[in-house]
Amino acid sequence: MSNPLLDTSSLPRFAEIRPEHALPAVTELIARHRRKLADLLELEEASFDALVTPLEEMSHELGRVWSPVGHLQAVLEDPAWRDAYNECLPMLTEHGTEMSQNKALQQAFERIAKALPEEAPEARRTLVEHALRDFRLAGVALPEAEKTEFRKIMQELAAVQAQFDQHLQDATDGWHFHTEDESDVAGLPEQTLERAREEAVAHQSNGWWLTLDYPTYQAVMTHAGNRELRKAFYKAWSTRASDQGGDPRWDNSANIEKILALRHRAAALVGFNNYAEYSLATKMAARTGDVIDFLNELAARTRESAQKELDTVQEIAPQALEAWDAAFYLEKLKQQKYSIADEELRQYFPATKAQTGLFELAAKLYGVSLRKADDIEGWHPTVDYFHVLDERGSIIGGFYTDLYARHGKRGGAWIDECIVRKNLGGDKVHPVGYLVCNFSPPGSSGVSLLTHNDVVTLFHEFGHMLHHLLTRVDYPSLAGINGVPWDAVELPSQFMENFAWSYDVLQRSSSHIVTGEPLPRELFLRLERSRHFGAALAMLRQLEFALFDFRVHAEFDPARGSRVLEVLKRVREDVSLIEHPDYNRLPHSFSHIFAGGYAAGYYSYKWAEVLAADAFAAFEEAGIFDKQTATRFRAEILEIGGSRDIMDAYVAFRGRRPTLDALLRQSGIGKAA
Ligand SMILES: [Zn+2]
Repeated sequence: MSNPLLDTSSLPRFAEIRPEHALPAVTELIARHRRKLADLLELEEASFDALVTPLEEMSHELGRVWSPVGHLQAVLEDPAWRDAYNECLPMLTEHGTEMSQNKALQQAFERIAKALPEEAPEARRTLVEHALRDFRLAGVALPEAEKTEFRKIMQELAAVQAQFDQHLQDATDGWHFHTEDESDVAGLPEQTLERAREEAVAHQSNGWWLTLDYPTYQAVMTHAGNRELRKAFYKAWSTRASDQGGDPRWDNSANIEKILALRHRAAALVGFNNYAEYSLATKMAARTGDVIDFLNELAARTRESAQKELDTVQEIAPQALEAWDAAFYLEKLKQQKYSIADEELRQYFPATKAQTGLFELAAKLYGVSLRKADDIEGWHPTVDYFHVLDERGSIIGGFYTDLYARHGKRGGAWIDECIVRKNLGGDKVHPVGYLVCNFSPPGSSGVSLLTHNDVVTLFHEFGHMLHHLLTRVDYPSLAGINGVPWDAVELPSQFMENFAWSYDVLQRSSSHIVTGEPLPRELFLRLERSRHFGAALAMLRQLEFALFDFRVHAEFDPARGSRVLEVLKRVREDVSLIEHPDYNRLPHSFSHIFAGGYAAGYYSYKWAEVLAADAFAAFEEAGIFDKQTATRFRAEILEIGGSRDIMDAYVAFRGRRPTLDALLRQSGIGKAA
């Protein structure tokens, strides 16, 4: 086969794949799939095996061919890859829309659902249910006029949401603070100052030129000794893209109104009372009241601890705390109390040692072993490949690791699917993934040293990877992380983070770069105590965001408009301990919910955290390496992908529904500070 992207017989041939292969491969595949779909819809009798199985094959194949393209454009510094990716994207989107809007396909699924026997395997029933649900949510089943309206709303929404983001970007870029007086910037980290000096030079200026990007804002709020500077940054940040901000052209007020009204109307068209209900149709949380109760209870139980934290901070502040003071004095107090330095911890965590400790943990919990394969080529010399073997020594999957930062590689840490597991009509394929981080590259000694935060990140991503690798679901659309509700998908990853806070695990994952000693217990205890510091205030802040997001979508009333500031005010009265000035316009820059995919879904962060902490508590109760508990966690959570109702699965693992206790305990909330 001449186009290596279309060769799906084994792992991607990274050494041969070039950007110019992308467009022809995707074009050919989509054309082939279109013909295939047309043939399938001609079938006299649509049955699961005759229709759904080939559809699963097709989406598996498309995912398999496209995966290296999406991956390489993110990890390689090569504009040609980005161009190739962007060139293909519209075709894929169009193809996706064509499938999800296909009325004939929807009707075929309806016939299959009716004909599906009672005793059909749960995965089959779930697959058909999900498909019908998604058709409904996309408005496919609507009468023609409403269907057209629905489609128009979706297009308009996409445009207004994009404009929301654009305004926010312009408002952020449009502000800066310039000074030539060193005392103005006292306390800021060297990294921030260095950038500010470079910016000043770039603007043919002297001194320091601070911009309003998040890292700079964060550094100023946490470290700037100059209170006026913090206040200026706070005001600029919290009024971005609003009627209180600098430029009226960037005011997002009208966009917010439009977005909420359009979402509400779209939800109503497909049969929901509001957009919050629409959002929950694909999530683990069942009813809007459940989410509100969940957030309120968490807030109520956090409040006292948060008040105590705030009082302690107030003690060291020379004046009454304002919104721009809390982070600064919190950091000061943290340094006084724990004086724990990233650099000190780093000496104990060579990346390879942390990885070894993590793999040992996987072996202990799940009986899987990981074997490095030297004969498998990646996309960069520092990329490794690991086979995953079961207890009998058979390969059940594999993954690439690409751990170090380098120029042109996208920031952050993530995992992605290279190959999704499938087992369709005797054609069985093992799952393969990519695990990508941006740790400091190995220095002259050839060793990369991780901070403890990096170690936690590595464990987190490996948790996602295990979810992808250990799945036993045969259908790709429900295997691994596919089909898993948004508010549950972070369960396996946040669960794994907990092990990076266990001394037993850290001891085996650390080795001092000079002495070879494991992390001393005394240092670990200091680290552990610092974990809880400020946790209650941070929790309340997240709950404020989550409650605002959820209520503003649930309480929208077309007759009265969004009343966002009113809702925000009420939420803050309920949960916030820190007084915000009247000019504060949080909604206008809340792009997670107004431009991104978190609409009526911001609570998911906390929801998954509660599950993860509660699941880990089961391990703490039985001993964190308890084989039985681990086997149950693997069978009920990691292996099932999206094939079962997650709450049922969770109850099967835990013997009861999740409670908030573990997360509160883990965050040190509820006991004396
Ligand atoms: Zn994650």
